Amino acid sequence: MSIAFNETDTESRVDSSIFADFHIHSCFSYATSKNMTIPMISKLSDTIGLNLIGTGDILHSKWREHLREYLKVHEEGIYECKEKQKVMFIPTGEIEDEESIHHLFFLPDIETADELSLMFERRYNIDMNKYGGRPILQINAEELVEIIHDSGGIIGPAHAFTPFKAIFRSNRYSSLRECYGDQASKIDFVELGLSANSQMADQISELWNYTYITNSDSHSPNPGKMGRECNLIEIDSLNYSNVTNILRRKDLKKIIANVGLEPRLGKYHSSFCFKCRRRIIYDEEPKMAFNQNFIFFDLQVQEELIEDITSKKKRCPVCNGLLKLGVKDRINSIATTKKENRNRPNYWNIVPIPEILAEIFKIKSTSAKKVKMAYKEITSELGSEYEILLEKPISEIKSFNLSLGATIEKMRENKLEIIEGGGGIYGKLNLPVN
Ligand SMILES: [Zn+2]
Ligand SMILES: [Zn+2]
Repeated sequence: MSIAFNETDTESRVDSSIFADFHIHSCFSYATSKNMTIPMISKLSDTIGLNLIGTGDILHSKWREHLREYLKVHEEGIYECKEKQKVMFIPTGEIEDEESIHHLFFLPDIETADELSLMFERRYNIDMNKYGGRPILQINAEELVEIIHDSGGIIGPAHAFTPFKAIFRSNRYSSLRECYGDQASKIDFVELGLSANSQMADQISELWNYTYITNSDSHSPNPGKMGRECNLIEIDSLNYSNVTNILRRKDLKKIIANVGLEPRLGKYHSSFCFKCRRRIIYDEEPKMAFNQNFIFFDLQVQEELIEDITSKKKRCPVCNGLLKLGVKDRINSIATTKKENRNRPNYWNIVPIPEILAEIFKIKSTSAKKVKMAYKEITSELGSEYEILLEKPISEIKSFNLSLGATIEKMRENKLEIIEGGGGIYGKLNLPVN
């Protein structure tokens, strides 16, 4: 099977490559779907084309109970479904530290998670299930890295640039070293988050030494949410050591590509007003000052505006609310280089199929019945969602559904028109009206 995604990609996809999404949340996390269970997750994964999923929430005892009920050991640190689904699982979780920074980690097996959970419980005298699937611990980042490594795990900052709960959020850290101290060089990866891609993150030269991973952080087992980001990894045999060694760059096998939501669709991409949630759009010649959803600024003032927002000198021109930097502007404000990192794996900007269908049908919700039915039909006729988005010849998709084929063609060429997301509101595909 060859990768048709990008014309510059001549390498063909080896048989031993897998699609992996390492960051989801279970039904025991806050604000998640009660359907985030192994049967629902694994069924959808097969439709999407995911081969490996991070369990998420591994420090939650009830979630571990559930995992033990539905999964069995496949190979060292990798679990398979007791039922017929093909997808495999690897233990992962997220911890919020004393500075409200989220860290994503992997553990060698579920037993290690039992031990680690007990250790934290005793040390901080807390119920590890208290905060849902993502424990909040009064621990600093440096120490957390040491503890995870001592348990045989690997760790890195989660959704690194989002305006909340992330290492690089405004008025917090602008380098890994400031946050992780002496442990910075031992960080195993950086998770980009939905609103950034590799090209954006590589403007920070310190990050060139780290692997980027791209995960959905999904809270529901719905198409368009799960698998909206994943990592295409070349791997010989699927076990914990091989997966983590690839992420740590200790293996010749590697991440072939980061498959990620087109960053402008991310809900924290643009800067925004914290109060009225209008998003800031830069335009070469803005035609108006603002409308219901956006505030328009001249592109020329971008740098100045970023500085003023950071120092809280500028407030929302519409409602006088506090302005906050989105991922794009935050990266701009801490960027250290304009050079291109040629050693970085390809980053494929994707738009999940439900997103495309909703726009074709001109329906607001990607979970509308019409979208769900069309998604089901398309994936059962043409193959998994990833096959359709990344590999299928466009002509085949077009002969099944012309608009879908034409949109995926544009997506593969990075030529889609997109209304930027921000302030907690996802961006939107903007297809011409036929
Ligand atoms: Zn998080
Ligand atoms: Zn406002």
